[in-house]
Amino acid sequence: MSAMAQSVEAKTNEAAETEALTDGFHLVIDALKLNDINTIYGVPGIPITDLGRFAQAEGMRVISFRHEQNAGNAAAIAGFLTQKPGVCLTVSAPGFLNGLTALANATTNCFPMILISGSSEREIVDLQQGDYEEMDQLAVARPLCKAAYRVLHAEDIGIAVARAIRAAVSGRPGGVYLDLPAQLLGQVMDAEAGRQSLVKVVDPAPRQLPAPDAVARALEVLKGAERPLIILGKGAAYAQADADIRALVEKSGIPYLPMSMAKGLLPDDHPQSAGPARSLVLKEADVVVLIGARLNWLLSHGKGKAWGAPGTKRFIQIDIEPKEMDSNVEIAAPVVGDIGSCVSALLRGIDGEWPAPPAAWIDAIRERKEKNVAKMSSKLLGNSLPMDFHSALGALRTIVKERPDAILVNEGANTLDFARSIIDMYQPRKRLDVGTWGIMGIGMGAAVAAAVETGKPVLAVEGDSAFGFSGMEVETICRYNLPVCVVVFNNNGIYRGCDVNPTGGSDVAPTVFVKDSRYDKMMEAFGGIGAHATTPDELSRAVNEAMDSGKPTLINAVIDEKAGTESGRIGNLNPQSAVSKKA
Ligand code: ADP
Ligand code: MG
Repeated sequence: MSAMAQSVEAKTNEAAETEALTDGFHLVIDALKLNDINTIYGVPGIPITDLGRFAQAEGMRVISFRHEQNAGNAAAIAGFLTQKPGVCLTVSAPGFLNGLTALANATTNCFPMILISGSSEREIVDLQQGDYEEMDQLAVARPLCKAAYRVLHAEDIGIAVARAIRAAVSGRPGGVYLDLPAQLLGQVMDAEAGRQSLVKVVDPAPRQLPAPDAVARALEVLKGAERPLIILGKGAAYAQADADIRALVEKSGIPYLPMSMAKGLLPDDHPQSAGPARSLVLKEADVVVLIGARLNWLLSHGKGKAWGAPGTKRFIQIDIEPKEMDSNVEIAAPVVGDIGSCVSALLRGIDGEWPAPPAAWIDAIRERKEKNVAKMSSKLLGNSLPMDFHSALGALRTIVKERPDAILVNEGANTLDFARSIIDMYQPRKRLDVGTWGIMGIGMGAAVAAAVETGKPVLAVEGDSAFGFSGMEVETICRYNLPVCVVVFNNNGIYRGCDVNPTGGSDVAPTVFVKDSRYDKMMEAFGGIGAHATTPDELSRAVNEAMDSGKPTLINAVIDEKAGTESGRIGNLNPQSAVSKKA
C-alpha cells in the first residue's frame, strides 16, 4: 500500500472511530453525494488537497488535471452533457483565477457548473494583511457567474451546496462559485446534526410551462409563414427533449438549421436539414423559430446583410430566459419556458392538419443544398501533399459517420470552421466546441469530461495553436487511460504557418510555430500512442486504430502551412489598420 493510501485509510479509520463527529471536508462530500454529484474535476493543493483525497476515499471519482482552467472546462462540459452541475475544485487565489475563466465561459454558454475554491483566512483577507494566496475571491467571482456564495460555518454547508446546485441548473443554467475558507473545512460538528443539515434538492430545475396565449401567438405567426425556418441551438441540445424536437421538425415539415453544438439533434443528413443552404435560408426565410439559440454574433445578431432586406422577417423565440427576448431584434412571438415544455406545447398545436411549407421554398433549399454538397464533395477527396483542411477532414468525416456514437471535440480557427461544416453529426450532444465565446483552450478539458461522463470514444480535432492551450492534459488522458484520440492539425502556426518577419530579423512572425513539430511525441512521453499522418489514408488508418483500441492516442496530421485563412471564417472581425501593411 502506498504511503498516501495508508494515510487516507488511517484518516478514514479515524473518522469511523469518531463516529459521533464530522467536519467540513466530509460535509461537503456528503452534500455533493446526496445530490448525485459523484465526480470532481480539479487540481489539488492548499487547502483542498484532503478534500480530494477524502472524496476519493468516499467513492467519488476525482479527476486531477494539470491546470485548473482545463478542469473547469471539463466540469462545464460535464454539466452540458448531464444537466447536473459539473464540479471543479481549485486552490485559492491563482488556482481560483485559473478556474474562473472556465466558470465565466460556462456562464456565457449556459452550462451548469460549480467552481469550488478553497480560500485564505477571512480575517486576514478582509484586513488585507497579506495571507498565503490572499484574495477576496467571492468579490472577484461575483460579476462573472450566475451566483456566488461563501460558507463560514460547517452547519451551513448543506444549504450552500443546495443553493449552488439550484442556482446552476434552474432557469437559464450557468456557473456558480462556492467559496470555502480553509478553516471551514476543518470545523468539527456532531455527525448526526451534520447529517440533518444536508439538503437533497427537490426538483432542482423545475419545468417552466409556457403561457397558453404565448403558444397560440407563436402558432398563429408560424401558420402564416411562406418560408419558415427552425434554428436549433445548444440550449435545445442541453434540454434533452430530443424526441419532441425531432417530432416538431418532422410533423411541421419545416427546414431547420442546427447551430454547431446542436448538430446531430437530428442527423445532419436529414432531408429537412438546411445546413448546406445556410446563407440562403437565413436571407430568405420569412418566419424563424429559434429554439435554444440566441441571436448573438454567431447569427449576425439577426439583422444585416446575412438576413436579407430589413423588416422581412418575423421571429418566434423559445427560451427559458425572458430577458433574451428582443435582445437584438423584435421577437414577434416570445415563448418563455423550458424547451421540453414549449416544444411539446407547440407540437400539440400542430397535430392534425398542419399545412406543409410551400413547395417552392422546399425546392429552392434542396437545389441550393445539392449544389453546395456537390461543390464540397470533390474537395473532400483531394489527395494533394501535404494535406489541406478539406482532404484531412474528408477522412475524419467518414470515420464519424461510421462511428456515430463517438464524441467529437473541435477547436481551432480553420480547423474549427471547416470541421463544423464538413463533419456531419448523427446523434445529439456529440459535438463539443468553442461555444459562444469562440474561445481556444476547451479541447482537452472537454475531451476528458466527455470520456469520463459518457464512457464513449472521443475524437478531438484540434488546431495546433488551439491544442497548445490545454496540451499538457495529454498526461491526464494517459493517467486515467481514457479512450481519447487527439488529432492535431499541424500547419506550423496560427491561421497559416508561412508568415514572415517583415524586418528580416531572427524572430519568426508572431503567428508562426516551430516548423514540422511532432506533437505525437508528447503523447508517447506519457505512455500513450503517437502517430504521424501525412496523407488522408494514413490519417484514417491511425484514427480507426485509435478508436478500435480505445487507447490514448495523438496523431500529428501534417497540413499545408499555406492552406488556412486569417481567423478562419471570422476574419471580418479583425480591425483593419489604415496606415500599415502586413508583410
Ligand atoms: P447557440 O450558440 O447554439 O445558438 P446559445 O447558447 O446562444 O446557443 O443559446 C442557448 C439558449 O438556450 C440560451 O438563451 C438559454 O437561455 C437557452 N436554454 C438553455 N437551456 C434551456 C432550457 N432547458 N429550456 C429553455 N431554454 C434553454
Ligand atoms: Mg495551426
